[in-house]
Amino acid sequence: MIDERLKQIFEELTSIDATSGNEAPVAEYIRAFAERLGLEFSIDGAATLSGGNSGNAIVKIKGGGSYFLASHMDTPRSIKGLKRVYLQDRITSDGTTPLGVDDRGGLSSILYALEKAVAEGNIKPCTLVFTVCEETTLAGSTFYTPEAGIRYGFIFDSYMSPPAFVSETCGLLEFDFIFNGRSSHSGIAPEKGISAIQVACEAITKFPYGKLGEKETGNIGKIQGGTATNVVCDQVKISGEIRSGNLKEGQRRFDKIVEEFEQVCSKYGATLEYSSAWDFTPYHIHPEDEPYRHFDKVVREMGLEPLPMKSMGGSDANAMNKKGVKCINLGVGAQNPHGNDEFILYEDFTRAAQIAYGLMTTTL
Ligand SMILES: [Zn+2]
Repeated sequence: MIDERLKQIFEELTSIDATSGNEAPVAEYIRAFAERLGLEFSIDGAATLSGGNSGNAIVKIKGGGSYFLASHMDTPRSIKGLKRVYLQDRITSDGTTPLGVDDRGGLSSILYALEKAVAEGNIKPCTLVFTVCEETTLAGSTFYTPEAGIRYGFIFDSYMSPPAFVSETCGLLEFDFIFNGRSSHSGIAPEKGISAIQVACEAITKFPYGKLGEKETGNIGKIQGGTATNVVCDQVKISGEIRSGNLKEGQRRFDKIVEEFEQVCSKYGATLEYSSAWDFTPYHIHPEDEPYRHFDKVVREMGLEPLPMKSMGGSDANAMNKKGVKCINLGVGAQNPHGNDEFILYEDFTRAAQIAYGLMTTTL
């Protein structure tokens, strides 16, 4: 079963509907929670980057310490009208909405641990960061500037079962291509046209789809073009992504795609425009790194074996690592994230809360 107080905090937090950009009521809940415990609460300026109604909510404990615990305040989809269902081993919804456990599960674990550690008087100096827009743009973690002294952190946001944690992830390179041909009447003067559809289709056959290696994948996820059946199409746009565990290799893969697409375009007299950007970059945290060591210590004190994992997904941990603050993303056990069949096992939820408590009450 599950601790009654942990369950209550989770129920309160999942009674608030707040998708990305609409996190203000969750931030208000955290403000009331922190102020009741006599802690320093603030909201940073992340709304200027996210365009939403709240910045990141930050709770500073005993000066802020050298590490932080974090989770995000937004849910990817609305949980309005949520009906929680308590089964023998798990909490889920009635199947008509998500449970909101991504990431109210992580958020509840941290707040539960906070209350307990403050009540017991053994909380260490640390900072709690509750981010905005994790699900859309990572705007909260991208904006967040850790105070001087903060060297590392823990993100409570992986679907994995604790004590599994993400020590290593890929990066995500997003791209757009525009194939420019020439329009013409397809019946009267087809020879005057250059079909962007024909060019794009041939180019796409050169694209490396799917799993390309242990830590690399490729996908074209969107294609648009054409105006009418009797017009030779003059423009096609495609969008996609490359995920790679290595920035240089990912870039090399993309450059090769550009080269192949350009060859196809020149064969037909078409032109190519393109753009690309890293949406998030890879990270790799090693056993000698501070967050790894701190987590390892806490988990072993609980009698468990920490389980480092690789992930092909991104989280706030990627944005934090990018700015040089070493972070790992911890398993909370929020399973089937984003679906109406989201659930969390009591065992995982309890463990996530115990880990949060351990991290708040133990130093390296
Ligand atoms: Zn999440």
